[in-house]
Amino acid sequence: MNDSTVAVFYIARGIDAGLNSAKEFVEAWSRHPPEHAHQLYFLAKGWKSELQHQKLVQLAQSCDAKLLDLPDTGFDFGAYFRALPQIEEKWVCLMNSYAKPNTPGWLRLLSQSARTTGNGIAGATGSWQSLGWSPLKQGSISATAATALSNIINCANWKKFQSFPNPHLRSNGLVIEKCLLEQFAKNSKFPKTKNEAFQLESGINGLSMFALDNHCKLVICGADGKEYPIEKWPFSVTFRSHEQQNLLVTDNRTHEYIASSKNRRRKLADLAWGRNNVRMIRESPKNTTPFLHNTRRTKCPACDMYCADPFLNSRDYNRQISTHTFDYWKCSECEMVFIDPIPEDISKFYSGGYQEIPDNLLSLERMAKKEAYRLSPLLRHKEHGDILEIGPWIGIFSLNAKRRGFRVSAIERDPHVCRFLRQVVEINATETDDVVGELQNDNKKYDAIILWHSLEHLAKPWIVIQQASHRLKVNGILIIGIPNITSTQAELLGAKWLHLDAPRHLYFWSPRGLRKLGMKNGLSVLELHTRDRLSRVLERNAWQHRIQGIIGNRFTRIFLSLIAPPLLSLFFLKNGGAGITVVFRNDGPADPTERKCDAP
Ligand SMILES: [Zn+2]
Repeated sequence: MNDSTVAVFYIARGIDAGLNSAKEFVEAWSRHPPEHAHQLYFLAKGWKSELQHQKLVQLAQSCDAKLLDLPDTGFDFGAYFRALPQIEEKWVCLMNSYAKPNTPGWLRLLSQSARTTGNGIAGATGSWQSLGWSPLKQGSISATAATALSNIINCANWKKFQSFPNPHLRSNGLVIEKCLLEQFAKNSKFPKTKNEAFQLESGINGLSMFALDNHCKLVICGADGKEYPIEKWPFSVTFRSHEQQNLLVTDNRTHEYIASSKNRRRKLADLAWGRNNVRMIRESPKNTTPFLHNTRRTKCPACDMYCADPFLNSRDYNRQISTHTFDYWKCSECEMVFIDPIPEDISKFYSGGYQEIPDNLLSLERMAKKEAYRLSPLLRHKEHGDILEIGPWIGIFSLNAKRRGFRVSAIERDPHVCRFLRQVVEINATETDDVVGELQNDNKKYDAIILWHSLEHLAKPWIVIQQASHRLKVNGILIIGIPNITSTQAELLGAKWLHLDAPRHLYFWSPRGLRKLGMKNGLSVLELHTRDRLSRVLERNAWQHRIQGIIGNRFTRIFLSLIAPPLLSLFFLKNGGAGITVVFRNDGPADPTERKCDAP
C-alpha cells in the first residue's frame, strides 16, 4: 500500500439491489480495470438469506475484495461512515449499489484529479439540482412539478437545500481524501431518513458544501481525462446530457436517463442543469463533442496496459475482399500501431498470395537480379554464415543470399511456397505459422536473421523479436524492414495509404518505437534508415497507386504517375520515407571472458 492507494467502498445491499447488482459490478470492474493502486471493500448490508450472503462472500473473494458486514441502517452514507475506521488507506472512492465502472483507468483518472493540489475531491458526475423548492429560478414550473409536489409534502426542505443552482458532486464514483470524509462524518448527523441521506449529498450541510468550506475545488473528471470546474459541469457530457459519453462510472440515475424517452430526458436534464443551460447544451453540440473520440482506450497487447488510443479506421482497399472496417490503435507507451480486433478469418484476406509462384528458377532469378540491392544491409556486416529468413514468400532475398554463399534457412506459412523453396530455391524451409514456437524449439544460432517486410504480418511480433534475439550468435545481426507508419506519406494518405494494407498488416512502429523494441531485447542499433532505396521504391509505388485511384483520364494518369511521385517525395521529406530498415546487433554478454566461450 502506498499513500495514493484508494479504498474503494462498494455498497453491496441484499435487500434492494441484491446479488445481481454485485455481479454486474464485478463484471464491469474486471472489464474496466481501475489502473490505480487500490483495495476493494464490499460494504455488505441487508443480507437476510445466509445462502445469498455466502455467494456474496465468494464473489468478493473472486475479485480480492475485503468484505465488511455492516448493520442495515443509515443508507449509503451511514455505511461509508461506519467503514472508515476499519481501513488504513488515505483515499476513499464511494460506489453505490448500482455503480459500474464504465471506462478502463477510471480510478486512475479520478484519483489523479482528486490528488491535484487544491482539489481534494473529484467526482465522475455532479449536478446543479436542488431538492429545495425553487421552480421559478429554474425557469420552469412544469419540469419541477414533481420536486414541487414532494416539497409541499416536506415543506421544510427549502431551508435544508440551497436553491437552484445547487452544485454538488454526486456520491457515486467520488474520490475523496479519507481525513476529509472523516471530518465530515464527525460533523454530520448519522442519517436516519431518506431525506437526511439526501441532505448529506446535496444539502447546505452536505459533503460538497463541507468540501468547499475546507478550500477544496469541486471538479468532475471525465473519461477524456479532463477536469471540469462547476461552471463547466453541464458541458462535461457526463450526466444528463447527450449520450453521457464522457462518463467514468455509471449508476441507476445515469441508466434512467439513457433509457428515457426524448421528453423525459429533457425533463431530467432541466432538473439537473436548468432549462436555459439545457437549451445551450442541445444547440451547441459542436462545442462539446470534439474530444469524444478520445474517450475510448484499449489494451496494448505488447504492454498489457490500457494505454492505446484510436489511430485510424480503414478497409481492405487494396484487395477489397470484404467491406468491413478495421480499427487501428496507437500505444502511447511503446508506440506500436496495431489492429484490434484482429479479424478471425485473417487467412481469407491472403487468398492469392502476394506474388505468383514463378514457373522455374530462371524466372525467379530474373526477379532476384532486380532486387539484389536489398542484400546490401546484410553485406555491410556479414560476408558468409548461417542466416534465417522469416516470411521469405517466394524467396527472392533468400536466393540472392544463397548465391552470395550464405547457408539459408527459412520459416514460411504457405505450403505451396514452402515446397517451391525446398525444391526450386533449394533452401531449408520450415512450414509453420507459429513463428514464436518454431524459434523457441530451434537450438541453432544464426549470423543473421531477416524479417523483410514480414514482421507486420506476424502474430505477437514483439515476442518474435525477443525469441529471434535469443537465436543470434554473438555479433549476429537482425535485419528488419517494415512500412513507416509515421512517414509524411502515411499521414497524408491515411486510411488509403497503400502500405497500410488493412487487414493484412497487423502491426507498425515508428522508427523510435522500433529502436526501443530492439533495445528492450538487449540489441544495439547498427543502422536505421527511412530513405534507403527500398523506402523510396515503396514511396513511389504508394504515390502512383493513389494517383491512379483518383484520376480517371488514362493519359493524365500515366503522365502524373511518372512525374509526380519523385516531386511529391521531395516535398515531403520531413518524417522520412515510406519504409524503415533497421539493423540490430547482438553485442553478447558484457563480460569479455564469457564472450569467448559463446563465440562461433
Ligand atoms: Zn504498448
